Amino acid sequence: MTDTSTTTLSLDEVRELANSVLVKAGLDAHSSAIIADLVWMSERDGPRSHGLRLLPVYAQYLSSGYANPAASPVIGRAAPGVLRGDGDNGFYQVAALAARDDLIAMARENGIAAFTCANCHHLGALRFDTGPLAEAGLVAMGVVNSLSMVVPQGGVRPTFGTNPMSFACPRPGAEPVVWDQASSMVALMDIKMAAAEGHDLPRPAGLDPEGQPTTDPNAILETRGLLPFGEHKGAAIAFLVEVLGAALAGGTLSVDNASREAHGALNIKGGATLIAIDPARFGNAAFDQYVQRICAEIEGNGTARVPGDGRLKNRALAEARGVLVSAELLTQLRELL
Ligand code: NDP
Repeated sequence: MTDTSTTTLSLDEVRELANSVLVKAGLDAHSSAIIADLVWMSERDGPRSHGLRLLPVYAQYLSSGYANPAASPVIGRAAPGVLRGDGDNGFYQVAALAARDDLIAMARENGIAAFTCANCHHLGALRFDTGPLAEAGLVAMGVVNSLSMVVPQGGVRPTFGTNPMSFACPRPGAEPVVWDQASSMVALMDIKMAAAEGHDLPRPAGLDPEGQPTTDPNAILETRGLLPFGEHKGAAIAFLVEVLGAALAGGTLSVDNASREAHGALNIKGGATLIAIDPARFGNAAFDQYVQRICAEIEGNGTARVPGDGRLKNRALAEARGVLVSAELLTQLRELL
């Protein structure tokens, strides 16, 4: 019989557990602290599919030799507004953090600047990449491509990854607006979670072995053929992410999965691009009021909410009560210690 019991962990316990699992898996102390913070923030704000649940996957990258546990990213200026990174086959977030201060300074100087990074692993939620730039007063957009699973409209095989994008901007007197979303109808980790929890998806999100749209997560995991959100429109966004991510950075295309498959890993070494814009350099002194007005129009509109604000509610609850972790996952994580 499956154990459906749960344990409440405080957010400090989540971070400590994540850090211990990563260190035990061989990741250096600096990178472990960065990735443990991301796991902690995912459990706190959502998406929880990118929190503790990803640790066994990260451990697998390291133990199989797919990822470099002691990566030393190299970042250089390719042009006045362009920072180019090589992640040294480590986690993307380590390179991105090393580039952040320069990226912010370059955006403030030029009005706009971008950081691209290849040769790195990234399986986190993009909101934690764009959010800090908005906290620094910048508008940000981030993308990363991933292994091919999304079938273009009318196609019969996957071409794109679930290719997420994120947008963030400062909001005067409040937390920044930060949203992020996959190009697929549903993120792969959520399909895996539905399969593990034994329920259907709320709407058809992929193809079954007969090529028909289905809500059955197991059938979708069998075909690995996910549907884009919004039919051809989501597929077009996935295309954009593939170009801004893999092509600009020189990362692995989503269709080139071979090395990842050999290691049983969940990601490819795709490409990520993070664009930072300083609104103060664009000449509209009322930028802040525009953002405020757009948000107010949404908030006063039926049950609509500003995209991404669900994370603030999740955060308040998690800070007050901690997070519920399934006994099954906790056992799996403790076995890694
Ligand atoms: P969701 O569809 O759950 O949410 C998309 C965005 O919309 C979020 O910012 C969410 O924030 C917001 N949102 C949800 N419901 C509403 C609503 N009713 N009104 C307004 N806003 C709403 O996300 P996805 O399943 O598409 O993606 C999940 C995560 O997976 C993302 O964090 C993404 O970055 C990550 N991902 C990472 C990949 C990788 O390779 N690194 C690949 C694919 C996905 P909130 O609920 O907090 O308001």
